[in-house]
Amino acid sequence: MRRLPLLLAVLAGPLAAQAPAAPAPPQPVLIKAGRLIDGRSAQAQTNVGILIEGERIRAVGPLAQVQAQAPNARVIDLSQMTVLPGLIDTHTHLLLQGDITSQEYEDQLLKQSIPYRAILAARNARLALEHGFTTLRDVETEGAMYADVDVKLAVNRGEVPGARIFASTRAMAPTGMYPIGGPNWEIELPHGVQTVDGVENARLAVREQVQHGADWIKYYSDRRYYFTPDSTLRSWVNFTDDEARAIVDETHRLGRKVAAHAIGSDGIAAALRAGVNSIEHGDGLTDSLMDVMVRNNVYWVPTVTVGVHVVPRGGVWPALVALERRAFARAVRKGVKIALGTDVGGFPWTEINQAKEFEYYVQYGMTPMQAIQSGTSVAAALLGQEQNLGAVAPGLYADLVAVAGDPLRDITELQRVKFVMKGGTVYLSQ
Ligand SMILES: [Zn+2]
Repeated sequence: MRRLPLLLAVLAGPLAAQAPAAPAPPQPVLIKAGRLIDGRSAQAQTNVGILIEGERIRAVGPLAQVQAQAPNARVIDLSQMTVLPGLIDTHTHLLLQGDITSQEYEDQLLKQSIPYRAILAARNARLALEHGFTTLRDVETEGAMYADVDVKLAVNRGEVPGARIFASTRAMAPTGMYPIGGPNWEIELPHGVQTVDGVENARLAVREQVQHGADWIKYYSDRRYYFTPDSTLRSWVNFTDDEARAIVDETHRLGRKVAAHAIGSDGIAAALRAGVNSIEHGDGLTDSLMDVMVRNNVYWVPTVTVGVHVVPRGGVWPALVALERRAFARAVRKGVKIALGTDVGGFPWTEINQAKEFEYYVQYGMTPMQAIQSGTSVAAALLGQEQNLGAVAPGLYADLVAVAGDPLRDITELQRVKFVMKGGTVYLSQ
């Protein structure tokens, strides 16, 4: 691979001699933003110019000043709108179409081929983009192997329109701890994860998933959630501490990060002991667990939207909504880093706009600005992409959305995105 640039240079030599002058650089684009929420600043700014060259932002500042830098730029007039960074959802399942019941889940794994599911996933990546989500961290394919990496490749190559994808491939759980279970021992049914038992297998699984394109590693820390009389949410922990540490250590050794599904306090504590980078769902977070997260710079991805959606499951699920709401308010006060994530796919992509999650965060105790940053700059920091994503700033990708009103007054404006640009290309303009 290291030889490639040299090879290209050799090939380009004779061709370059015959070719006309190099093509002109793309015409710069000037966006006139009536109001800008840049994803990082505490305040919105008015009458801002955003200069874009190719895929990236070159300048941001007072309109007249930026306009003077590029008098020949093509103008996109959003002077009647509020412009924000492209939104980021850090917990999605492109390969899933809602699984409020185990029947819905099993139907997808048993009756749909992976190619069919991948077609729906491509559709979902486009839906996300049209809703203003220019980046997704997709946290496992639920039995569809590495198809998330294929969707990511097709998007990156411009074959299909879609959000940027950080893929986790298959996720992990030990034998017998993730559906589909085995009602008939004569038949081996597909599982929603890669089955992993033992320390050496944990390291092997991480290596395999990274080999096949995983940007992140996801594992299931717990299951079987129950309340104790003092209203603590407990759970059964899936992996031994040694196994979980092996997953995390090998992932970090290979330059990736780990997301752990952890709902009960036991599962959250186990994941934190193992050293994960994000806690997914986290309904049972206690004050002391939050303190550990703050101390160790572990992010929380609450996925409130799916929690509300699965209330009809009954059992312990309805109580989790109120429990998480209380935890959320405490976490905001304690300064836990909360990255927006919805678990879309756990609810149908076609029925609920992911941006509903922002509305819950404001209801639960964030200011609108905090909620917006949770789904932009904080999410980008979780992804380790502060230099590329999550803000409107020079040098970053030109991933932008615009809404008609002021989301600082009405956060539901984010559910009515009118303009979407990803990497300097406009995908929606109403
Ligand atoms: Zn999920």
